[in-house]
Amino acid sequence: MLTSLKHIIQEMSQSPNLDSALARLVTMVKKTMKVDSCSLYLSNYAERHLVLVATDGLHADAVGKVIIGFNEGLIGLVGDREEPLNIEDAPTHPRFKHYPEVHEDNYHAFIGTPIIYQRKVLGVITMQHKETRRFSEDDEAFLVTLAAQIALEIVNAEMRGSLHNMQLDSRVDTQLLPRTVNGIPGAPGLAMGIGHAVNFKHDLNQLIARKAEDTERQITRYREAVQITRKQVAELSSDLSENLPEDVRAIFQLYHQLLDANSLGREVEKEIHEGWDAASSLKFVVERYAARFENMEDPYMRERAVDIVDLSNRILNNILLEESSSSSDAPDNTPCILLAQEVSAPMLAEFPRDKLAGIISIKGSNNSHAAILARAMGVPAVMGLQGVSINLLKSKELFIDGYSGEVVLNIDEKTRNEYQALIDEEEALYRKIAEDGDKPSLTQDKQHISLLVNAGLTASVEMEQFKQGDGIGLYRTEIPFMMRERFPSEREQYELYKDVLSAHPSKEITMRTLDVGGDKPLNYFPINEDNPFLGWRGIRLTLDHPDIFLVQVRAMLRASIGLSNLHILLPMITSVNEVDESKRLIKQAFLEVKEEAMAEKKMLSKPAVGIMLEVPAVMFQLEHLAQRVDFFSVGTNDLTQYLLAVDRNNARVSNLYSSYHPAVLGALHQIFQSATSAKVPVTVCGELAGEPLGAVLLMAMGYRKLSMNAHSLRKINWVIRHINIQEVRAILPDILHQTTPEGVRQILNKYLESKQLGGLVRAGA
Ligand code: PEP
Ligand code: MG
Repeated sequence: MLTSLKHIIQEMSQSPNLDSALARLVTMVKKTMKVDSCSLYLSNYAERHLVLVATDGLHADAVGKVIIGFNEGLIGLVGDREEPLNIEDAPTHPRFKHYPEVHEDNYHAFIGTPIIYQRKVLGVITMQHKETRRFSEDDEAFLVTLAAQIALEIVNAEMRGSLHNMQLDSRVDTQLLPRTVNGIPGAPGLAMGIGHAVNFKHDLNQLIARKAEDTERQITRYREAVQITRKQVAELSSDLSENLPEDVRAIFQLYHQLLDANSLGREVEKEIHEGWDAASSLKFVVERYAARFENMEDPYMRERAVDIVDLSNRILNNILLEESSSSSDAPDNTPCILLAQEVSAPMLAEFPRDKLAGIISIKGSNNSHAAILARAMGVPAVMGLQGVSINLLKSKELFIDGYSGEVVLNIDEKTRNEYQALIDEEEALYRKIAEDGDKPSLTQDKQHISLLVNAGLTASVEMEQFKQGDGIGLYRTEIPFMMRERFPSEREQYELYKDVLSAHPSKEITMRTLDVGGDKPLNYFPINEDNPFLGWRGIRLTLDHPDIFLVQVRAMLRASIGLSNLHILLPMITSVNEVDESKRLIKQAFLEVKEEAMAEKKMLSKPAVGIMLEVPAVMFQLEHLAQRVDFFSVGTNDLTQYLLAVDRNNARVSNLYSSYHPAVLGALHQIFQSATSAKVPVTVCGELAGEPLGAVLLMAMGYRKLSMNAHSLRKINWVIRHINIQEVRAILPDILHQTTPEGVRQILNKYLESKQLGGLVRAGA
């Protein structure tokens, strides 16, 4: 069954558009399951009806014409109840409705199951038999499993299809309508620019099959691509050491055999003769080869499927002759929307800032580190555009809305003007805030709120903004580690830290020790884990590698010689032991560096040591932790992720991730109360502190130190100067009584609106 399912899904994904994918699907199901008919209905959710879109067995003319309400017939019943229906003799069922157009008079047995994606009924798939009999449990299980799998395929095919058709249409500009695809809001703001793909490689998996009439040219393209690939593989294997391990050598041997094999070429050329272009032909043949290998009993041979696909992707990229592009290829004088499968910190840092208008990351979610960096840079970003191929966005004019997560393609003149007006309006608001930006952050009832900066990426920009802040509340040291190809030396780290500490000697600078793992990988220190966010991250990793930890702490301490503003912050603390062990190492480093300082007759101050409160376990140990540290810093990004058990990087569950969830509010409230009674200063450095609603919420709870990305600083300063602490304290009980994030946001929104700050919520919350 698994093989048939896989085969069906694979065939679907090869289809150029949704119509042909579904037509192929029903035919294959009918054949595989040996039934008399298989049909598929797609729903129009708003209208609450289903339309027959593909059938093998019912009358073909009925496709597109039969429309069934959710309250009509058996199909409607399946859609309405959202569960499978297995009936021996359909015409005798009380809900049966006769549709003459479909010619189903001879059918009796009926089974239907809903196709559901993210709680919405996308459609219904049915099988029918002429006999009167109940479909078996196996049939039912097959259909349910198939429906679950095709849901995502339908969403993807729809996206591919609509974008693809649009691409074909793009020769006739005037008739185009703007099209929107939806992702997840990553960083607030609006932007327009040309899609520029970084590190873009074509992938057979994503390729949309196309027909081509110039058979000879396609054959030549394929043969030339194989020649180029052969040369590349030869160079690659000769570049590698002579002493290659046996298994790596075997892979190269396989590559050579495949490239030389007439069989592969013959099969590809056969597909070309059937009217497909070279790339699509390669895709079909390789998917068949890979499936054959995947089905082999020998696990070693099964693994080879991956090598076949890898080699074929090399051939594909040579067919399409697209070199992977880099940031430096970004077109001159044109605002760009950076496109990448997964945007990384180095990618953002290398991209010329003056050309970077916006960011689209196919993977990731609202609290992925890429989104946090985008917010820090003040660049609008959309994340998690699942199912969209970069190929369809690159080199196109795009509009992105970082508030709603929308990406619009195919912008016509009228829409362009409308978007430009929105962008101008937003810039005017920011200008207004900026003009007033350097005033002290005092509420209307004269309470001072300390604003600090989260730094780490674009040190120069941050340092500029940081002039207004009271210090750095979170210096993410991992970012400089991610930008290199090896661990930075103690000297390199010292120089970096020295710049930051000495730039503002009178302000507190909080440097966090290395927090890699999770979605912050180091290329030169790969960690392969099933659950990276629950794995070897932050302090867990550095305590297992005291060498890394000690070098970093020594570099921080040496950089602080003669100064007294260094605060050291420990990430991902879960247990008291981790604090004790870290403090022991910090003390060791301190004594070593102190000796060096004394030899040079210089002064080394003891750094303040604090911990991140971001793992829920610490909430139950605050009393013990408070005795051991000088300060707390609440990391709402991870605290939310771990409290709600929602991966901050997973687009599929992004709707469940909210720092306004009542459980998170409960934790934040409790932390503030406990820290205050233990007399330990507490800052919030998660993204919540930089959102207008979040900042008001935290101030209502009593927090007076907020650390945020440099870009949010002025905006939050503006909010603070317009609110009154007495008033926000008064709405706290109501907020804490809410049972949903929406309820919490509603109260906060209402308060901001009463202060004429409603416009800011679009600009950032
Ligand atoms: C947090 O978890 O809230 C935090 C500030 O750290 P990071 O986002 O770097 O994990
Ligand atoms: Mg964190």
